Amino acid sequence: MSLNKKTIRDIDLKGKKVVMRVDFNVPVKDGKIKDDTRIQAALPSIKYILEKGASLVLLSHLGRPDGEKNLEFSLKPTAVQLEKLLGKKVAFASDCIGEEVVKQANALKSGEVMICENTRFYKEEDMKAKTDEDKQKQDAFVRELAKLGNVYVNDAFGTAHRAHASTALICKYVRPSVAGFLMEKEINYLGNAVANPKRPFVAIIGGAKVSGKLEVLKSLMEKVDTILIGGGMAYTFLKAQGHNIGGSLCENELVDTAKDTLKAAKEKGVKFILPVDNIAADKFDNAANTKIVGNDIADGWMALDIGPKTIEAYKCEIKNAKTIVWNGPMGCFEMPNFANGTMSVCKAVADSGAISIVGGGDSVAAVNQSGLTDKISHVSTGGGASLEFLEGKNLPGVTALDDK
Ligand code: AMP
Repeated sequence: MSLNKKTIRDIDLKGKKVVMRVDFNVPVKDGKIKDDTRIQAALPSIKYILEKGASLVLLSHLGRPDGEKNLEFSLKPTAVQLEKLLGKKVAFASDCIGEEVVKQANALKSGEVMICENTRFYKEEDMKAKTDEDKQKQDAFVRELAKLGNVYVNDAFGTAHRAHASTALICKYVRPSVAGFLMEKEINYLGNAVANPKRPFVAIIGGAKVSGKLEVLKSLMEKVDTILIGGGMAYTFLKAQGHNIGGSLCENELVDTAKDTLKAAKEKGVKFILPVDNIAADKFDNAANTKIVGNDIADGWMALDIGPKTIEAYKCEIKNAKTIVWNGPMGCFEMPNFANGTMSVCKAVADSGAISIVGGGDSVAAVNQSGLTDKISHVSTGGGASLEFLEGKNLPGVTALDDK
């Protein structure tokens, strides 16, 4: 399955004024960018558009300023970083709508680029407008954004699962609306993995909660041969199997659903593999006392990582896999004493030789931390978006673009 939407390759860009939504939602501390992966990921589209003789206005969000102008979430550092990466001047507009910004956008010559301030400084960007009044307000905001160009490009895969003003609604007023290269690459990779997987197809699903991953588990069950479960979500499943999980993370209201999921996997012949041992801690702290335990965890102890036998079993499945999708860490990998499970899985995926797709902020952080990024076929820039795509849902930011 490949993207059936037009891309920047399919349209004439010479002399055009392009407004492109990117995902520059990078981690910033004290005005410094800690990881510029997302900016780097947008470079191919940015360079191509500029080389083809268009001017370019970039829109993005950063963090959750909740509709307030809060400079803690300013995109200004991304303009500085992009300037370094491109080796050419990148202008910065201190707003994303208004006369002044439109003037700045219109003054850009071909080959020139500008970044506008955080779209989420306006609540109209991401509000779910229900009342007529809100709809009108949001529409007015979208019309303002649309004044920034005569071609719209969406290269923000990370927010493609949201029908926000700058990610989808803007397409109503700017045509053509096409995909950038990052969007194309993400959809093609994820789409192909799901449509024509080389088998065995193994999904590794971890992270804190079952609740956020139930839908994806259901849909993956239709496609994969094996599902390896780790992270906090494993313990709701272990409880469903009748284990005492002590103080481990558990979503009690989902224990029955977990039972149904285990039953469904059995019926479909999918290997649904849970931990057989764990690293238990006496408190949620890197300095906690720890011990290796089986699946019955004593009261006063909580499992914060998968154990050595589990790691070996998962490594074995990963080694034989031909396609791997991984989303979510195997333990509290932010604490070094509980990072072994996640890091071992990461290394096994990197060494597997399989087509490997890693998505989700935490698993991507783990891959980056391990220095093995180059050995993963595709590190997705969108956690939520990649999950929703794997679930088989339509991504509004993609649906709104022009068909091929
Ligand atoms: P998610 O956003 O659902 O992918 O969850 C990621 C978070 O899950 C990370 O911050 C991990 O520290 C956390 N996590 C992983 N394993 C566990 C565990 N066994 N107990 C509690 N939290 C966990």
